[in-house]
Order: sequence, then C-alpha cells, then structure tokens
Amino acid sequence: MRLKSLFCFCVMLAGFLTASAQTKVIAHRGYWKCEGSAQNSITALQKSGELKVWGSEFDVLMTSDGKLVVNHDDLINGYRIENTKYEKIKDKKMKNGETLPLLEQYLDEGKKYPDLVLVLEIKPHKNKKHEAKAVERIVRMVEEKEMKDQVHYISFSLDACKELVKQAPYAEIAYLNGDLSPKEIEKMGMTGIDYQYKVIDKRPEWVQEAHDLGLTVNVWTVNGTDDLERMIRLGVDYLTTDNPVDALEMVHF
Ligand code: MG
Repeated sequence: MRLKSLFCFCVMLAGFLTASAQTKVIAHRGYWKCEGSAQNSITALQKSGELKVWGSEFDVLMTSDGKLVVNHDDLINGYRIENTKYEKIKDKKMKNGETLPLLEQYLDEGKKYPDLVLVLEIKPHKNKKHEAKAVERIVRMVEEKEMKDQVHYISFSLDACKELVKQAPYAEIAYLNGDLSPKEIEKMGMTGIDYQYKVIDKRPEWVQEAHDLGLTVNVWTVNGTDDLERMIRLGVDYLTTDNPVDALEMVHF
C-alpha cells in the first residue's frame, strides 16, 4: 500500500514537472503591476520584455478614420473609439502618464524584444465591416514590419477570428469566448483556444482534446496561486496573468 502511494506521488510529481516545463507565461495587458507601468502602456510591454515572460498581451481597436490604437475599453472619455476620429482621443493619458499608444509604436517597441511573443487581441467592434477592415490593417501592418512570427492573434469576436484565418492563414489564432469546443475551433482553421480558466475547470477534458487536434490551450486571467497551480497541472500551454512574477516562479518550480 505504501509503495503504491509512493508510486502515485511520483507519477503526479512527474506529471506536474512535465506540465510546468511546458507551460508558458503571458503578461495580461503587459507587466503593469510595477513601478511606473500601466495596463497596455509601452512601459508595460518593455517590463514584459525585461521580465523575460514568454508573451505580452495587449488590446487593439480601430478609430473611425482607420488609426489602430492600443486600449482595452471601447470608450475613451465617453467617445466610442470605433466611431471617433483619432484626433479626438490621441491625447488621452494612461495611468502612468504615457499617451495613448498607436499599434505602430507598440509593434516598433516590441520588435526590440525579439524573444517576446506579442499576443495581439483584436477587440470586438460593433460595426462588423469596420472590424473586418481593422483585422486587415492589423495583419498588413504586422507583415510590413516583418513581425509575422512574433505576433499571435486572439479575439472574443468570432467574426474577427474568421477574418484572421482568411487574412493571415499562417498565424497563430485563438478564440477567447469559451463557447466553442476544440473540434469546432479546429474546423474553422484556428490554432488554439484561449478560454477563461473557469471554462477549463468545467471542461478539463478540452485540454487533451485540443492537444489531440494539434491546438494550443491558453487560459485567462489566472491570478491566484491555487488557480495557477491547477491550470499548470492540467497541462495548459499558456497562462495569461496579471501576476507574471508569481506565475514564472511556479512554472520554473
Ligand atoms: Mg485583452
């Protein structure tokens, strides 16, 4: 009986070590929980690079006149970004005093950290034509900057994901909304699922199903120690977290 327990423990430990060796850390909206940083700021991107996380996530929206900006919320000072000209919002200050970054500036800065994967989230736009145009412009900009291999795409918008499959068939593309099975995702030509960890808690079998189909598994936004540990044990490929320092310590255990 004791031998059996020891054996089980060893199997569990081996599983944990293997899984943790594979799990990579993505800083959610960059590494912002530190001095001088702010969510989605250029500084947060630089801090991710310095911290040597695997990836740094950020959010992109397109203004009415076609400027791509890095911002999480749809609204800035009450203006809906997709219906507003860049001129009206360009002076918006972030919490660390930086002004609203353009995608172009963000990519240029990201290029200085070639080992850092840039996880580009395309936010849902209400106008679907505008959203499709945003996808096209984003993809072309990434291509022109020769950053195809450094940028991965994610979106809650299924339309945006489908457009990405068309515009960037070579790219890593993951869907965020949690309502489609790995099989459905694979059929649509995407390369991964990126679901809230509570979805994966309810359907832990999706990790294996995704892997069997050759898809990657990312989970958001995993901040608590217990949640981080449980997701690492489940063998997810990526952890998206506001606490990248804690997560790095755990995956390097
Ligand atoms: Mg995001």
